Amino acid sequence: MDKREILREFSSDPERYYQVKLFEEQGFIRKSCSKCKRFFWTLDSRREMCPDDSDDTYSFIGDPPTSKRFDYTQSWKEVESFFVKNGHTSVSRYPVVCRWRDDLYFTIASIVDFQRVMGSKVVFEFPANPLVVPQTCLRFKDLENVGVTGRHFSSFCMIGQHSIPNSEGYWKDQCVDLDFRLLTDQFGIKKEEIVFVEDVWAGGGSFGSSLEYFVRGLELGNAVFTEFQGELGKHTILDQKIIDMGAGLERFAWITNGTPTAYDCCFGPITNHLFEKVGIDSDSQLLKKYFTEIAKGIENFEDLMDVRKHAVKNTGLKDEQVNRIIAPLEGLYLIADHLRTLIFAVSDGALPSNVGGGYNLRMILRRVIATINRMNLKLDLDELIDLHIDYLKDTYPELNSSREDVKSILKIESGRYEESKTRMEKIANRLKGREKPPSVDELITMYESDGITPDYLKELKVISEIPSTFYSKLSDLHQSEKKKDIEKLPLEGIPETEMLFYGEDPMKFEAKVLKVFDDYVVLDRTSFYARGGGQEPDHGIIGDSKVIDVNKHGGVVVHQVKGAIPKEGETVNCTVDAVRRQNITKNHTSTHILNSSSRNVLGSWVWQHSAFKEADHARLDITHHSPLSEKEISEIEKTANSVVQKNMNVAIENYDRGTAEQQYGFKIYQGGVVPVKSVRIVSIEDFDIEACGGTHVKKTGEIDLIKITKTKRIQDGVVRLEFVSGPTAFEFVKKQKEEQEKQKILDVQKEQIEKQREERKQKAREKMPELLEKIVSGDSGVFENIEVKERLCFTASDQYDEFFHINFGKKLVNQDPKSAFCGIFESGPTIRIIVYCGEQSGKKAGEIAREIAGILGGSGGGDSKFAQGGGKDTSKKEQAINKAKLMILG
Ligand SMILES: [Zn+2]
Ligand SMILES: [Zn+2]
Repeated sequence: MDKREILREFSSDPERYYQVKLFEEQGFIRKSCSKCKRFFWTLDSRREMCPDDSDDTYSFIGDPPTSKRFDYTQSWKEVESFFVKNGHTSVSRYPVVCRWRDDLYFTIASIVDFQRVMGSKVVFEFPANPLVVPQTCLRFKDLENVGVTGRHFSSFCMIGQHSIPNSEGYWKDQCVDLDFRLLTDQFGIKKEEIVFVEDVWAGGGSFGSSLEYFVRGLELGNAVFTEFQGELGKHTILDQKIIDMGAGLERFAWITNGTPTAYDCCFGPITNHLFEKVGIDSDSQLLKKYFTEIAKGIENFEDLMDVRKHAVKNTGLKDEQVNRIIAPLEGLYLIADHLRTLIFAVSDGALPSNVGGGYNLRMILRRVIATINRMNLKLDLDELIDLHIDYLKDTYPELNSSREDVKSILKIESGRYEESKTRMEKIANRLKGREKPPSVDELITMYESDGITPDYLKELKVISEIPSTFYSKLSDLHQSEKKKDIEKLPLEGIPETEMLFYGEDPMKFEAKVLKVFDDYVVLDRTSFYARGGGQEPDHGIIGDSKVIDVNKHGGVVVHQVKGAIPKEGETVNCTVDAVRRQNITKNHTSTHILNSSSRNVLGSWVWQHSAFKEADHARLDITHHSPLSEKEISEIEKTANSVVQKNMNVAIENYDRGTAEQQYGFKIYQGGVVPVKSVRIVSIEDFDIEACGGTHVKKTGEIDLIKITKTKRIQDGVVRLEFVSGPTAFEFVKKQKEEQEKQKILDVQKEQIEKQREERKQKAREKMPELLEKIVSGDSGVFENIEVKERLCFTASDQYDEFFHINFGKKLVNQDPKSAFCGIFESGPTIRIIVYCGEQSGKKAGEIAREIAGILGGSGGGDSKFAQGGGKDTSKKEQAINKAKLMILG
């Protein structure tokens, strides 16, 4: 839908769409901007231009329009108390990881908190009406702006003021009245300063008018009145109208403080802490002028670098000042902003990785580290995390409990980045030689395949600036990943199947065949569990055919069968394979137990990533940063089995979705989004509570035993636990025991062989003096597997080890300068050679060792008296022995 068209339509009838009671009462005048023609409402009769074009734009920097000063935390307290005083419920923020939406990784606006997608429709579920919420929102599209523009953040607090106009809530008149009084009464801004601009909003098939409110060119909020659906002209009024007023808390703090940037008043003590480290005075006239120029310039230039250049020129900054003041400032703001975002994301269970939304988190942490390195800063991340959380915990007390988890995750992830630096450096250095700098697409490929961020390339001076489209392009690429495919089947007009497995759950039942196509059968009712939530389907018999697969399509269960296919209209006898079902059921409850056990043992960042439950095996993939240690695995298994032994109750209850979320939080969505109004909550007492559509045991004791059979890191940030439970677990333990027995016998045999070899070696050592005497006396022949020919000796017998060769050879040539000795033996995967040649033997040790090692595919060296070498090519052992023998004896 064309927004401009809707705006034209709405602005042609302002009395209907925009003129609220407040405008009449206060005497607001409607004007058209003399530059861009947009319509706006003001109390100042001299104002000719809209806030974007007006001269007073950003004049609050250095000269705030109110005598009250509120920082970020205080600003929220003011906003909250105002709305609560006026009949609103203050709701705690929702997680920044958007677990209740399939199409979003992160919460990007306050209204998202209350949106639930059902089919292709978005419905709204409000826990209270009207309400206000300090919603932390994450946005990664404008990363290059963060730290530079003075007002862009990677995470910010959206003040959400939401209302449904009914007996409890209100509509336009009261909304605008409240927003006006918030600014004037609560924040002390003069009413002549406030300008409302006419606009519209459209999205997801609905649209409505909106009023953006500005003070001195700074957009503080936007009140959207979602009212219509359909195409303009053919549109109808929505059953449920919604007020979606979103305002930036950071901007409220900024307008009252008039600091050069919004960063200066929103990170509490962090900014000053960082300034002290670098020695910057942020309160200078120069900075105020510079950032006012930046703020004004953003609307006038496409490229951020041009905005920057323009501001530098207009402020009259010298290169030296830019390098000494502006560039470090930008770096410090970036560090403070990105860390705050990471704190929220990790606290809410997200992990930096190279998949899904984790990409953005890894990216921003690497930007922080690259910036710290580039600026040569000695910063303690733990200290900064503490400062942030100490400041934020007034508004967001939940952050306090994840403090240590955030620290350990960022530590691990930073370490990983440092480890990969050598490899990254090699790739980066190759780029330095190139004529053209890498393109945006090349930069994206480099980040995706090697984790090389453009900030790192900037740190190494491979590129001078990060292309302005890089972050938005990368963000777009990963936004579209989170989508699902829906298969189309000929099921139109088929009523929803009565799902007996959610009720009486009989293993034998009668049903009517409603539809047959290919080898698929649809019944009016079924006890066959359809594949879902990672639980594999039931097998069994329908009439005379075997059930091999069962799937759900919308509310219709479709059975795939093998054998005589029943006819439509027929009534059939059905039997579910009860043993298979029981085993799958035990594995499913075990999945829930293992999931919470893993979280208890490893940390709060553990979420179910996915799961799979078959009859004889199952797996649970969890989000975790590193492979599991033996100790961790055994701890998880122990915790899980203690839950089994406690024989806890497993209760299943249906809740209204909103009630379930409020009561248990978003941890219930371990298995993903629940697209229905009524949520099935499976709770194992208070150990584990999840929304789940699967089958479960009634008491955990029924499971008997859980055994983890294998764990593996399957992708960055995801670890797989393979496991068995119930009878399969006992079988596994039995097999494991048998194998251990077998191994024990093998170990004993191996030990014996080793012992015999040692004995033989010992004997050889004892025989050394006798052997030496024989050789020195000039005897020829084979003694103890040593071939002797006139004082020249060779052996490849495995009864001799390195100790023997070295000692025997050395003693021999010391006693008799005409003698020589060469030994070949195996040492691990290598075949080694040791050579001693007496001064008058006519042989050269070094030559022999080099030659033989060469044959074996390795290298050797030494002098004419002593040399050694070896190689790993065991196929050449015979050849090497023959050659060595020839060289020493021949
Ligand atoms: Zn204008
Ligand atoms: Zn489940």
